[in-house]
Amino acid sequence: MESQKPKSTIDFKLTPKAKSTSLLLLRHCILDKMPQNYGSTDLAKAQVLLNAYRYQYYRAITAQPENRRAYTYALNCPPSGFNALPKTKTCKNPKVCPWCFVRLRLVKAYRALLAVPVSAREGYQVVAWGRVTLNDEKLPFLRSNYGPHTWCEALVTVQMVVPFVNENVPQGQPKVQLCHSGIQIIPKDCEISKELNRYCIRPALKGKMFGKVTHDNIIKAMVAVLRLEWMALYRPHNLDAFEGLVNGFKRSQLIRISPYKADTADTAV
Ligand SMILES: [Zn+2]
Repeated sequence: MESQKPKSTIDFKLTPKAKSTSLLLLRHCILDKMPQNYGSTDLAKAQVLLNAYRYQYYRAITAQPENRRAYTYALNCPPSGFNALPKTKTCKNPKVCPWCFVRLRLVKAYRALLAVPVSAREGYQVVAWGRVTLNDEKLPFLRSNYGPHTWCEALVTVQMVVPFVNENVPQGQPKVQLCHSGIQIIPKDCEISKELNRYCIRPALKGKMFGKVTHDNIIKAMVAVLRLEWMALYRPHNLDAFEGLVNGFKRSQLIRISPYKADTADTAV
């Protein structure tokens, strides 16, 4: 049985933003992973996602009425990539909110990778790697001074840890796992799989190359390691995992960027 829709839900009027980086990233990394029968346009899919996200918050409010106020604010977070009217505040919780995941994680990563000026891109390529780890005490981030960033002599390295619901885990095991992903700009002649194949990295990272440093290839690389099934998080039987994520990882920095520095290439000569 579905929970009651609270009166304070805002009915957004959504219009896709033209030439929006947010919409591009939302489409490729989130909406494209949704089943085809949810609609063929960005708007139709975003509406389905918005409803699913909201219904999970309604269920959370029913389970914990004391959180009604905070959760009502969160469920009225405006979808990214669209002009949403009336205007509301963002919830700033990218662990459960797909709109804030786009704003605070994907856009940030994309901009950091594109920060390499066109004149410095010659001789470099885009690569991505990833792995799934258990959600235990320690986050699986690799160090910027001893890890893929230095091993590959990268111009930029973006690492992200995304907690997600994996519905395929064997029964009895925790459903929330961590997707650890990296996207880098590294020299063309660097063999990513060879560099990542070190005994100190367990579980192992799987790497893939995407060619020249272009907008399109950066998006392809992000899709390869960051496209997760967000709808799983909003299924009624995953309410416990959702509630855990709403309040979890409070003090953790889940995106880490080793940014482009203009003099990196010069000093390497
Ligand atoms: Zn949000």
